[in-house]
Amino acid sequence: MDKLQKEGYSKFIKKYFEENKALFEALSNIQKPDTMIITCSDSRINPALILDAQPGEIFISRNIGNVVPAYQPSLGSTQAAIEYAVNVLNVKKIVVLGHSNCGACAHIYHEHQEDEPLLDHVDDWLQNINTAKSAAMLEVHADESKNLFELTEKHNIVSSLRRLMEYPYVQERLVRKEIDLIGWWYDIGSGTVELYDFNTRHFSPVL
Ligand SMILES: [Zn+2]
Repeated sequence: MDKLQKEGYSKFIKKYFEENKALFEALSNIQKPDTMIITCSDSRINPALILDAQPGEIFISRNIGNVVPAYQPSLGSTQAAIEYAVNVLNVKKIVVLGHSNCGACAHIYHEHQEDEPLLDHVDDWLQNINTAKSAAMLEVHADESKNLFELTEKHNIVSSLRRLMEYPYVQERLVRKEIDLIGWWYDIGSGTVELYDFNTRHFSPVL
């Protein structure tokens, strides 16, 4: 263990764990989160910090680009996490949390150079962002003052929400109003979170 990890863990045990012993005791055998968050693997995104959430409150699935893949073909850890969150944990909310300066959303515009490593798995995975890419390009084509990357990040959140609605068990719960789907775009530099409005189809600041 390097110094940073050792000091970090030591601080957790001495401070956080000691101060929250009852919480960890209560959580030791069961989790009952009511919210699932699907977000990017990006090291700058810390959902628990943004939401001031305690252990046990949010069920998190992370992948490069905070993507919800299509239900079919159903293969992969994101689909498994969604299935477990909805059918076993009965979460009441699923938040797709995208963010500013997302490397995944920028990478799909990048042309591979000879001196760069091949990223076969990344490239394959990011095909999930193609729908968002074309939607963003269409908007920028109509108005060149718009930011292509930010639009791609936001369209990617919306297409992930749309795909979530195609998961049969999510669809059933939506019809019965037992689950809510939420789209958030987080600006790393300012801390601003923008919420997607399904009526206006725009993102606007939560606060
Ligand atoms: Zn990202």
